[in-house]
Amino acid sequence: MIYKPNIGYTVKHDLCTGCGVCEDACPSHAIHVDVKKGCFRPIVDNEMCLNNKGCHRCYDVCPGIGVNLQQLTRECFTEGVADELMGHYLKCFVGHSSDFDIRYHCASGGMVSQFLIFLLEKEYIDGAVVTAF
Ligand code: SF4
Ligand code: SF4
Repeated sequence: MIYKPNIGYTVKHDLCTGCGVCEDACPSHAIHVDVKKGCFRPIVDNEMCLNNKGCHRCYDVCPGIGVNLQQLTRECFTEGVADELMGHYLKCFVGHSSDFDIRYHCASGGMVSQFLIFLLEKEYIDGAVVTAF
């Protein structure tokens, strides 16, 4: 049997994107996602972790495994700004929906909702797949 670690591996190798999926996937509630320097990072309670009994569910669901973010960043961002908290970016803007209801009822000023409405109204897209709680 091939040994698989828990998501301590992901965090140690700086592959974590802070999605939080591992916290929900853990059968023994051994993972708690905390905020460190403005980023969501999981912490594993090794006393509760069942990795030594063969569990690796968090590792299996982790989208960070197999994605070399640092290499991708180097390839995609040959120019721009590197910020410790924001990561690499070419340009940075601030914005919000100009529709009060959308801005009030949506997260992050309704930027994504407003942008999708624009794309739908202009028929640049036929539909959009979004997640909901
Ligand atoms: S599933 Fe992976 S990427 Fe998501 S929070 Fe857990 S360790 Fe990070
Ligand atoms: S290996 Fe299993 S028990 Fe341990 S943190 Fe991951 S999902 Fe939870």
